[in-house]
Amino acid sequence: MSLAASSLSSLRRQLTSGKISARDIVEDVIAQISSRDGDIGAFLSHNGEAALAAAEKADLSLPLGGLPIGIKDNINVEGHPCTCASKFLKDSYTSPYDATAITKLKAAGAIPFGKTNLDEFAMGSSTENSGLQTTQNPAAPGHIPGGSSGGSAAAVAARLIPAALGSDTGGSIRQPASHCGVVGLKPSYGRISRYGLVAFGSSLDQIGPLTHTVEDSALLLNALAGGDPRDSTSLNDPVPDYTEGLDSGVSGMKLGLPKEYFADGLCPKIRERIESTAKKLESQGAEIVEISLPHTEYAVATYYIIAPAEASSNLSRFDGVRYGNRTENPEDMLALYTDSREAGFGSEVKRRIILGTYVLSSGYYDAYYLRAQKVRTLIRRDFQEAFEKVDAILTPVAPETAPKMGSASGDPLKHYLADIYTISANLAGNCGISVPLEPIDGLPVGLQILGPHLGEKKILRCARAVEAG
Ligand code: GLN
Repeated sequence: MSLAASSLSSLRRQLTSGKISARDIVEDVIAQISSRDGDIGAFLSHNGEAALAAAEKADLSLPLGGLPIGIKDNINVEGHPCTCASKFLKDSYTSPYDATAITKLKAAGAIPFGKTNLDEFAMGSSTENSGLQTTQNPAAPGHIPGGSSGGSAAAVAARLIPAALGSDTGGSIRQPASHCGVVGLKPSYGRISRYGLVAFGSSLDQIGPLTHTVEDSALLLNALAGGDPRDSTSLNDPVPDYTEGLDSGVSGMKLGLPKEYFADGLCPKIRERIESTAKKLESQGAEIVEISLPHTEYAVATYYIIAPAEASSNLSRFDGVRYGNRTENPEDMLALYTDSREAGFGSEVKRRIILGTYVLSSGYYDAYYLRAQKVRTLIRRDFQEAFEKVDAILTPVAPETAPKMGSASGDPLKHYLADIYTISANLAGNCGISVPLEPIDGLPVGLQILGPHLGEKKILRCARAVEAG
């Protein structure tokens, strides 16, 4: 197995035993990308020289010493472009600072390597909304990699790099992880600082890892978690060692299957895979119980009011004045704003801005935004009640395996509806992980394990049991 294809934990063992050097790993990552990423399209940019220089100086005594990590291109890395896969920022913006997640990765010895493709400004679930390039699903060419962190998932799945960071506002780490066959963790809201992540839906966004193994996910969470004075929504709760107890199994755990998640619309083969996995966990000592999350049917409508509302406000900073695209010779100030935005944003981003502006406008605010916030509370309460009865919840990640590219183009509603299983965890602020199951007809599929707020240890332990089989 090439070095770029290895897990972080195995690279770490090889590095500390002196078998390989950090330079060997980075050289292999560069070689893999240059020989194979032309067909996949996972990376938007990378700076091999800078990464090699960082590898020379790597401190191998640190927990992630010398390990290269791909970074979704909506997370700022000093000196690198940060395009958000948008024409608005392409060739016109270089990050002047590191996101806190990057500062923390560097402090743990890791080498942020390259920027990966995404749906423009993380709006989408196929990476087809990227304004810059398409990304193939490495496990199933011709199929979408999922999204919006499709570049990160594809980079790991194609074994171009051992691990990558993504962001998850409504499923954008878990869903591409499921479609590409890797592990994707969305931590609880506040567990990782959002400082330096280009904001989409500020009350929903979280950064998280995409990895080959559950252990690697825990290793990265160890480095990334913690409070940050620069993000007032980050939490100062102590950061446990997430790798500790990972192998203690599910014996004695209570796991819930929410009946609303197994209703019409779910591919029967996915349902079967999840049910047989639940049986296996039962045979390992877990107790499986049916639960109810009664407000699930309102989740898509609620999310597609709140997320665009926040996006319309967050994206108002892209106006041609300060960041990125600026129209030449505008007639007046208003034309500077409107022409720069018209030319810079793609159609899905415009759709979200229009939706968001509408639901926030006076006269409609109470009917849409305020009501959505109330329903959000009901969804959160559903989970609070469920987690009084169970330790974790098992669900599908998406209603079907990775669709063919272009199959939902022109039908945004189809994409929105397919987010049904992932968005509730963001609305509630809980954590969730997608862990690969046996592929279906050759296509990867993940199991989603949802946990209570700050319940990352529980879901990692359960995911590890699934992974171990
Ligand atoms: N698919 C969802 C959306 O389009 C989620 C995106 C995300 O998590 N960034 O909004």
